[in-house]
Amino acid sequence: MKRISVNPDFWHQGCFQKLSSQAKLLYLYFKTNSRLNIIGIGQFSPYQVALDTGIEVNNLDDVFKRLFREIMFVTENDVLWVWLRNELSEYTSPKIMQGAKKLLATLEIPDEMLDAFLSRYGHLLPSDQSTSTVALTRREVVAIRDNFKCQYCGKDIAEKADMEIDHVVPRAKGGSDAYENLFLSCRRCNQEKLDLPPEKAAVVKPRTKLFGKADALKSLRSSTMLAKYRSVFLSESEGKSESR
Ligand SMILES: [Zn+2]
Repeated sequence: MKRISVNPDFWHQGCFQKLSSQAKLLYLYFKTNSRLNIIGIGQFSPYQVALDTGIEVNNLDDVFKRLFREIMFVTENDVLWVWLRNELSEYTSPKIMQGAKKLLATLEIPDEMLDAFLSRYGHLLPSDQSTSTVALTRREVVAIRDNFKCQYCGKDIAEKADMEIDHVVPRAKGGSDAYENLFLSCRRCNQEKLDLPPEKAAVVKPRTKLFGKADALKSLRSSTMLAKYRSVFLSESEGKSESR
């Protein structure tokens, strides 16, 4: 079982003293919650959180804002993702980091949370051959699934700069960020699609077969796929800060 340690100085530390009682309650709620894994990341239902803490679901966002230094919150498709930013600092043994790496590879952590986590703890992750493929972002998973081909014109996409992730059902019309709704598109097709009337633009239908991060990692066991992945995503050393 996971060991939980709450700093006994919690009630007297300056940064916590200033918090509202609701924020203190939420902090302790997440800190002591078994839904968080060893790296301090977990998924919650906002309604369950509201039920458990008595804080109205509509007020949660306001309380989250006060806690942002301690906890990162991302809501995606009605799932509340929570990351206790300081959870790992006390446990950085290689064994824990090995476990962390596995978790990062299989959980569908939202990209912005994954990026924030990696910029803080990425250097502690064990660096073997496969490290580079662990931190797959959503666009990388989509690219691998679609075999680095534009799903509209079939062109092979060889450069990150030519790569767009297209929402088949646009976000503005309620389209989700789930993989089924995301497609690899070359820059030109994505641009042209914007100018087309919707009935013509919808050449591609959302997929029904589910393909996630674990599948993408499996695909990367193929040396052809790994070579494509490396040449597109790892050839430039500009980092991951470009816009998605
Ligand atoms: Zn294209």
